[in-house]
Amino acid sequence: MKVGVLALQGASARHVAMLAAVGAAAIEVKTPERLADVDRLVMPGGESTTMSKLLVSNDLVEPVQRRLAAGMPVLGTCAGMILLASEVLDGRSDQIDFGAIDISVRRNGFGRQLESFEADLTVDALGPPPVRGVFIRAPRVERVGAGVEVIARLADDEVVACRQENVVVTSFHPELTDDTRLHEWFVTTAF
Ligand code: GLN
Repeated sequence: MKVGVLALQGASARHVAMLAAVGAAAIEVKTPERLADVDRLVMPGGESTTMSKLLVSNDLVEPVQRRLAAGMPVLGTCAGMILLASEVLDGRSDQIDFGAIDISVRRNGFGRQLESFEADLTVDALGPPPVRGVFIRAPRVERVGAGVEVIARLADDEVVACRQENVVVTSFHPELTDDTRLHEWFVTTAF
């Protein structure tokens, strides 16, 4: 299983390490050629507006769109969630939105006081113990479409991860702890 990590900007290195730790062949993706070479893709956290510009200047928008439409499994974390969502609130009007999962997310939606925080999460597919979620200026999920499955919640039931067919998104950073279970699940699940 060859898993790419979009490495234009942001938190790609830790994802590569996590994927390698669970036995995947993990490579950084910065070009359409590299994208064509992977079975699955991680879109990391970072800054969605900057990543948007780099997707355009690296000629990756259409190739990513084609692969998503063809069913390539993708894991979008934080800024990756924003890029994949069908609706972005408080985004920049010119930022790329792949519209690959029917959710509305608000950029930096946890507000100033909660700019960064950690919290235990229940991730349905993983069972106990809880996953420690690291949130950094995280997007907040404000609407979940009918075809979308909620796969993780905070203790107060707030939605922090969703899946629609081949598209999985988390508002937290699963690569920033030593818990490899979510990456293992992404790599081993049949989509
Ligand atoms: N707030 C960032 C954005 O708008 C996302 C933050 C992150 O990925 N840690 O892209």
